[in-house]
Amino acid sequence: MVTRHPDTDLLVEYTSGSLSLAPSISVTTHLQFCENCSNAVDSLNQLGGDILEAAEAVPVCEDLFEKILLGIDEGSPESASPHGAKITAVDAISDSLPRYVQQFLPKGKLRWRFLSPSLRLATISVGEDRHELALHRIQAGGKAPEHDHNGEEITVVLTGCFSDEDGVYQPGDFIVREPGDVHRPFAAQNKECICLSVLSAPIKLTGLKRVFNPFMGFSPS
Ligand SMILES: [Zn+2]
Repeated sequence: MVTRHPDTDLLVEYTSGSLSLAPSISVTTHLQFCENCSNAVDSLNQLGGDILEAAEAVPVCEDLFEKILLGIDEGSPESASPHGAKITAVDAISDSLPRYVQQFLPKGKLRWRFLSPSLRLATISVGEDRHELALHRIQAGGKAPEHDHNGEEITVVLTGCFSDEDGVYQPGDFIVREPGDVHRPFAAQNKECICLSVLSAPIKLTGLKRVFNPFMGFSPS
């Protein structure tokens, strides 16, 4: 059961379209698992529509409609969209991921980068330079290195589950880590855990492990 959700402020930003693509993808991924938040987003959209309807009409220049149409024509059809991209992934694990997430995976196999003996990371490119969107994969019973964060990190559990000092996280759970949070996630014994993560700045290992800091390889997507 999903017990961790985006907060209301984040849902309002998401609904108003002010979130950039990578965090937006993380929220939509959570919505695939969570009826409560989906209903909240529907209500916010309804509210936004009501406010627009109630707003007084303001005069616009005569050729505005033409300009909008022109803008639509000029838009790149290849740009990634949270709602419309084609599914192209063939990596062995892709079938186990939510269909919504599969559409963002690269063609062919994912390139898993070694972070520790039990932890791998594959970045997903969605054309963003402020965030790194990635999949983290912790093998069954594996522990990730203890680390803290220079920036905010959003994690959405996709398959399996993991736990840290603060609790146990199931598929769909949406976890936000702020700068300075130190934690050491580990996967359940019986199944590997795959999470979607959005990192807004490099995270760093604490103590001596900083020397072998595999997390510093920030690759904005
Ligand atoms: Zn939720």
